[in-house]
Amino acid sequence: MPFFKNTLIITATVIQLSTTAVAQIPSSATEKAPAAMICLTYDDALPSQLKNVIPQLNALKLKATFFINSIPGSSDQLGHGSPSLIAWKAAAAEGHELANHTLFHPCPQKLGWEKDVSLETYTLEMLLSEIKTMHAYLDAITGKKEKRSFAYPCNETTLNGVDYTAALRKLGIVSYGRAGGDQQSIITDVKHTDDLKMPSWHVLEGTSGEAMIAFVEKTIRSNGLGIFQFHDVGGALFNVSREAHQNLLDYLHDNAHRVRVLTFSDAVTEMKRIIK
Ligand SMILES: [Zn+2]
Repeated sequence: MPFFKNTLIITATVIQLSTTAVAQIPSSATEKAPAAMICLTYDDALPSQLKNVIPQLNALKLKATFFINSIPGSSDQLGHGSPSLIAWKAAAAEGHELANHTLFHPCPQKLGWEKDVSLETYTLEMLLSEIKTMHAYLDAITGKKEKRSFAYPCNETTLNGVDYTAALRKLGIVSYGRAGGDQQSIITDVKHTDDLKMPSWHVLEGTSGEAMIAFVEKTIRSNGLGIFQFHDVGGALFNVSREAHQNLLDYLHDNAHRVRVLTFSDAVTEMKRIIK
């Protein structure tokens, strides 16, 4: 879409624009559904997401987005399917969104990635090929052929110094892109936010339920879209405790009249519908 030209809208810029209500998501006063939206997104297809996150979400009928890279496709038990493949298929059937996070998750060496598998060793062709392969893989898991959302491994939107979002758009299989950000990254200026670089709060290890609820409240106050970027819940990678995560979900459930919880694709589509 030609009106999405600017790069990431974050922190002070967002706050400033929200006060002037430039292209802001309209107030919910005349609508049934609340204007504020929250997305719960989880990266890397981690085992704790199957074990802890999906049961917690399902108990409250909340839908989330999982940015998937490799899933083991076979089992070490003769005659049995891969338990994680079966579980992810079930998650998709339950209404969770499975989205693209490349196949091998290349990241920059400066973030500690081993040289042989780092982003620096990739050409654009190699990277796009992985994204296409993962897309076909998700077609097979979900049984659907459709455009899908994409999350940049390690929130890195450049390849060897060059922004690759234009190439991503040309591929024709990616609907929206999720980038990184922090607790200030609440989207209110929709028209000037690139739909291939939607900022999100990369939630760091040990974040409390109170801090996450504060982010929800801030999103409600600004009639905006707040996107959580989680990794492990009850695991090791940027871990958030199961209790803190449960507190957040309970709060979202109890405040359903004030804020909607949507998958990433549904939220961005809805945001675009509202501002038309
Ligand atoms: Zn990742």
